[in-house]
Amino acid sequence: MIEVRDLHKSFGDLEVLRGIDLEVEAGEVVCVIGPSGSGKSTLLRCVNLLEAPTSGTVIVDGVELTDPECDLDAVRRRIGMVFQQFNLFPHLSVLANVTISQRKVLRRSAAEAEKVARVNLERVGLSDKVDAYPAQLSGGQQQRVAIARALAMGPSVMLFDEPTSALDPELVGDVLAVMRGLAVEGMTMMVVTHEMSFAREVADRVIFMDGGVIVEEGPAAEVIGSPATDRARTFLSRVL
Ligand code: ATP
Ligand code: MG
Repeated sequence: MIEVRDLHKSFGDLEVLRGIDLEVEAGEVVCVIGPSGSGKSTLLRCVNLLEAPTSGTVIVDGVELTDPECDLDAVRRRIGMVFQQFNLFPHLSVLANVTISQRKVLRRSAAEAEKVARVNLERVGLSDKVDAYPAQLSGGQQQRVAIARALAMGPSVMLFDEPTSALDPELVGDVLAVMRGLAVEGMTMMVVTHEMSFAREVADRVIFMDGGVIVEEGPAAEVIGSPATDRARTFLSRVL
């Protein structure tokens, strides 16, 4: 579903990704962990080419995004992305936030977009908030709207970059529960997270990054439970 080969990314003189090889199978949940600055967000942003790789290959759903001929917009439609900051439109209702891209990008009719929006708002437990505005919602509710908005586009892959890091602790659980539900439904997911209990419970595989490379990779029980390298042990001793 996702295939990354020898991916490099530099910002000026700073080489942030130094040869990443990675595969994510359909239906697999891969959690990416690692210290601040290790390149986790850059990796995720390279997977949908929000950031142009310096070299290497990214293939999603059989389409090579790094091919200069690739119709990026067409591929990005199939990749949902959820950020730490929810990035909702403050002047639009919840329903309008979830319909706007469907209408503009997928050219769905108002009725169709609204139907899909309601289904996905129900999926994230927010059926009763369709007419609310973002400022009237808790951070956890806003993040669930952002997830519904991504799901409404019918993605085959969902990328999450620290989706719960901006939330008050008591709001984290609801968002993780929605993500757990998606995993159970078989959604292919890459999740950058500091939530080690979520990674242990939900991830099929955990990737530990440091210094722009994958240092360890394997089942959560191994990578989190008994890391093989000092770098991973040091990192985990600080976050667990
Ligand atoms: P965090 O856990 O703090 O979110 P991260 O692992 O996601 O960290 P990245 O955001 O990928 O790390 O950043 C990796 C390195 O790349 C950092 O040194 C960062 O300063 C640098 N970097 C990221 N984006 C840019 C950019 N657009 N221009 C210049 N440098 C950047
Ligand atoms: Mg980051």
